[in-house]
Amino acid sequence: MSYLNFIGGEWIPALSGDTFENRNPADRSDLIGLFPDGGAADVAAAVDTVSAAWPDWAARGPEARADVLYKAADIISERIGPIAAELTREEGKTLTEARNETGRIAANFRFYAGEALRLRGETYPMPEGQVALSLREPVGVVAVITPWNFPLSMAARKIAPALAAGNGVIFKPSEMTPLMGQRLVEVLLDAGLPQGLLALIQGRGPGVGKAITATPGIDALTFTGSYAVGAQIAKALTTDTRCQLEMGGKNATIVLDDADLDRAAAIIRRGAFGLTGQACTGTSRVLVARRHYAALVDRLTAAAEGIAIGAGTREGIDMGPLATGAQLEKVKAYLGIAAQEGGRITTGGVPDASDAPGDGFFVRPTVVSDLPADSRLLRDEIFAPVVAVRAVEDVDEAIAIADDTEYGLAVSVVSNDLAAVLRLAGKTRHGVVKVNSPTTGVALNAPFGGFKHSSNQSAKEQGGANVMDFYSRIKSVYLGG
Ligand code: NAP
Repeated sequence: MSYLNFIGGEWIPALSGDTFENRNPADRSDLIGLFPDGGAADVAAAVDTVSAAWPDWAARGPEARADVLYKAADIISERIGPIAAELTREEGKTLTEARNETGRIAANFRFYAGEALRLRGETYPMPEGQVALSLREPVGVVAVITPWNFPLSMAARKIAPALAAGNGVIFKPSEMTPLMGQRLVEVLLDAGLPQGLLALIQGRGPGVGKAITATPGIDALTFTGSYAVGAQIAKALTTDTRCQLEMGGKNATIVLDDADLDRAAAIIRRGAFGLTGQACTGTSRVLVARRHYAALVDRLTAAAEGIAIGAGTREGIDMGPLATGAQLEKVKAYLGIAAQEGGRITTGGVPDASDAPGDGFFVRPTVVSDLPADSRLLRDEIFAPVVAVRAVEDVDEAIAIADDTEYGLAVSVVSNDLAAVLRLAGKTRHGVVKVNSPTTGVALNAPFGGFKHSSNQSAKEQGGANVMDFYSRIKSVYLGG
């Protein structure tokens, strides 16, 4: 099956005519499709058409925009089954995980339909009966660049507020998950989005992505992905383009002295091994009170060994493959580093061909203990189901180690000691603090974003009014005098 870009209201090939292949990460013989390999010419064409289209969309007013977003939510709800099956085939997560992600984007479209209706300015009294108003306007052309790990929800949480605020959108999905980009755009068109308002450009980061950062006429760029790419984007943009960067994480679960270890192990199992460990908020470190260290390592090892790996479409599978070959190579490299550092891999690793559940990028849920304090496994983002466990003396040492990384996305704590929990929440340099729950899993209506290299802090990426500040501009108008 061959797919096309969508630019100016038409489905067209890349202007270069080039294409790339996309394959199932659980079964490399399964070709999902051929997609256009876009570049600078496609981006320039999209900027022209989206620039021309957004003022009419903005002029329609909030109710008309909300109607389209509500309709999109209804269509997604009707298509959860087929879209989730394709998400599993394309990205590798299990069907249950894929259904959750698909259902969540319907909720996302509903939430931002509501925000379209709530967008407003303020009035400011002035002397002698005069008044100043703040008016909210769309930013204009918004570029959306997304990763492969949540190919629907990362895109929806950017495209929905951008459209709600009256903008036009240029959307570049990850080259690993182009089919999900296609499906999302189809939903929006079926919901009645004006032709030309949304451009879909498939292709690779160094092609389409780089061209987006270099093409004049893009008013805002919202990116989710790695810090390495986010830093390149920040450097490439001029000051005229507002820019939101949501990047990596090195998230820790802290298990304090009073914790129930069965509960802690269940929380860590979900945070570390759910979604094959490929969540920006995934748990990749456990910092546990010394007296519980050995017992918790045993419990986590047993929990990991109880996880069934395989193609996410199969019954009874708890964990799908990694999404890419590059991810698999990264895991192999870090297992080598763990061994060099003197770490103990208590369970897991990469199955060999005779032992693997198929011809895909499979890795077993992995637990590594006995690492030195300066271990790279305690600092670098691996983005895989590999969890490093280390003993700590008290909550202060746990906070110090949790914060001793370039990232600051999510941290969780297992404890009922309120004073210790509040101390952690107040001191840590992480944007999300979770208590007695996994580092993963955040609410649609709560602000989301990290500190340090996890986020550029231009606006929180989720949760209502903060988000709309990124996608709209405020103009001050003085009446009277
Ligand atoms: P990535 O390699 O940084 O890619 C992200 C997106 O940027 C992809 O669409 C990619 O295109 C594109 N891109 C690559 N090079 C580019 C360039 N020079 N200019 C512009 N765009 C470029 O990240 P990934 O491997 O897809 O995703 C994993 C990362 O995302 C992890 O670090 C994870 O923590 C992070 N993440 C963060 C959050 C959050 O909310 N903080 C959520 C999810 C994931 P190609 O795919 O075509 O290369």
